[in-house]
Amino acid sequence: MACSGKVPAMEKVFHFDSAAEPYVADAAVLCCFDQRIRLAVYKFLQKRGILRPDMIVVAGGAKTLASPRNDFERDFILEQVRMSILLHRTERVYLMSHSDCATYGGLAAFGGDPEKEALHHKSELQRAARLIQEKFSEVRVECFFVNFEGVFVSEEQAIEQVA
Ligand SMILES: [Zn+2]
Repeated sequence: MACSGKVPAMEKVFHFDSAAEPYVADAAVLCCFDQRIRLAVYKFLQKRGILRPDMIVVAGGAKTLASPRNDFERDFILEQVRMSILLHRTERVYLMSHSDCATYGGLAAFGGDPEKEALHHKSELQRAARLIQEKFSEVRVECFFVNFEGVFVSEEQAIEQVA
């Protein structure tokens, strides 16, 4: 009951008007919960016209598909993507990873070398993309790497800055 002013048995502690209409998601976005990149991701999505994303925000982001800690983690994320497609007719999946991600051991795990780190993330993103494409052939997958200066697209050839 989105429009009724009262919810039985619960006390209102915050007022905020939200759009209640059902929506088609512009993209399912898998990204890390790291607070440091949150605003960059949000601004980037807006700039790309992704105004109604289904956000799948988990530790490691695309790592959960590329190098999951276990089958449960990977399957849970795949199920989230499946639900976004099923419930919100999502046709696009954004896979994101970021610099200094603690789930990879941070930049330190790459000897403090940003280039080495970016190359590793590029192959991780591509592995995650292949998995999504394999499971959901109907969606378009795009991969992005976020650092503290912007967002980079991971193409087959190179990682180039897009925002
Ligand atoms: Zn992270």
